[in-house]
Amino acid sequence: MSTSIEVRNPATGERIQEVNVQTTEEIQTAIEKGHKEFKKWSKINAHERSRLLQEWSQRIQENKEEIAKVMTMENGKPLSESLGEVNYATSYIDWYAGEALRVYGRTVPAAAESKRIVISRQPIGLVAAITPWNFPAAMMTRKAAPALAAGCTFIVKPAEDTPLTTMTLVKLAHEAGIPKDAIQYVNGKGSVVGPLFTESKLIRKITFTGSTPVGKSLIKGSADTVKHVTMELGGHAPLIIAEDADIDLAVNQTIFSKYRNAGQTCVCVNRILVHESVEDEFAEKFTKAVAKLSVGNGLDEGTDIGPIINEKGFDKVVAQVNDAIEKGAEVLTGNEYVVDREKGYYFIHPTVLRNVDASMEIMQEETFGPVAPITSFKTLEEAIEIANNTPYGLAAYFFTENYKTGMYLHDHLDFGIIGWNDGAPSAAHAPFGGMKDSGLGREGGTEGIEPYLETKYLSVGNLLD
Ligand code: ADP
Repeated sequence: MSTSIEVRNPATGERIQEVNVQTTEEIQTAIEKGHKEFKKWSKINAHERSRLLQEWSQRIQENKEEIAKVMTMENGKPLSESLGEVNYATSYIDWYAGEALRVYGRTVPAAAESKRIVISRQPIGLVAAITPWNFPAAMMTRKAAPALAAGCTFIVKPAEDTPLTTMTLVKLAHEAGIPKDAIQYVNGKGSVVGPLFTESKLIRKITFTGSTPVGKSLIKGSADTVKHVTMELGGHAPLIIAEDADIDLAVNQTIFSKYRNAGQTCVCVNRILVHESVEDEFAEKFTKAVAKLSVGNGLDEGTDIGPIINEKGFDKVVAQVNDAIEKGAEVLTGNEYVVDREKGYYFIHPTVLRNVDASMEIMQEETFGPVAPITSFKTLEEAIEIANNTPYGLAAYFFTENYKTGMYLHDHLDFGIIGWNDGAPSAAHAPFGGMKDSGLGREGGTEGIEPYLETKYLSVGNLLD
């Protein structure tokens, strides 16, 4: 096993920093420390835990320019998006600093005068998180904040491409006063660290954001120790534009949803379904706006689209585009690449494809790149059928000015997150998560702290009347 990871800037291929990879023994020690600390951290009163979370959030805000720069350097996203992500990341900490104070129990009327039924909640124990490279700050805080708020201790393994943001956030948590062993990170390959987490009896929960195959392997690996799992997995988001949609709004929101983070988010629009009566108008306005997006280094002002994270990601997107073109898709803009495989950078100009159909890979698989395929439909039923015809069920979007159409689409789309005239539905105060192969459980909102709590029921008998 290698003893370090070279973190590289995906915009230039240059090495930024080398970080240590923890050995198996070091990871086991971290797990033991987290488990031991649980006894202390879970006993600290909720008001104090809340205060420490607020302090953490404030430290992150005080250092946000520096964190955003590190994030852009390791992930490639434009600096303005990195700053936006830091705010998004602290919004989870702020929200769960509040929720820490609202972990309530219940009493239930008993069926006998001499009995009392009391239901209480307690933290489940040490939590292990595995996070992805596309949102190195927010995917970590939306797991760490509810875990710490609930009274759990936390250990995270960030993605190999982007460990630096996580390391900075953990350091700031310690500076804010959160005990060292209550929040820890370990670095290493997912395939090595994953089994150490799943097989450990000391870890009571795995929370993961990443690809569906890895999520499934973590669920299987968690079976023997009957761990709790939260899984935020892949998506294949449809975006439906009805005949009465506000087209300018649809263009604007689709651009945000599709091209943010160079199309590398699990809630990115992956399939654009437009009613045939407005397809020409949408395709024309959308293509014109997309062609104006500028591609470059995220540190340069004015960059809208940064690089693709790595060669594997790039090759997958290009294969999907080539497959679509071979099968008859028309390129409206893009399909240009700036690549240096030796140096290690991969840029894809924002691309729009028309005349796509279900035979093309791009309509079947998550793309994770700045490519928008457009297809048309005649009836809402047809649009719903195309939209739902996927194993995934994370996010879906639709545009209509008609409330009946809107509620009908809402009721029939099998997705956990729905944006109606809204390409940016994620928020710390709302439950984020998917159906089917897109995952299990929700993060954010009041729902997001539940997976870190056990329910305990006390039945008291033989009471005085
Ligand atoms: P992607 O293909 O987008 O990088 P992955 O699901 O492979 O998505 O990666 C998300 C996270 O999962 C990363 O932190 C990665 O290190 C980790 N990972 C990858 N393979 C495994 C595995 N077999 N077990 C556990 N974690 C893994």
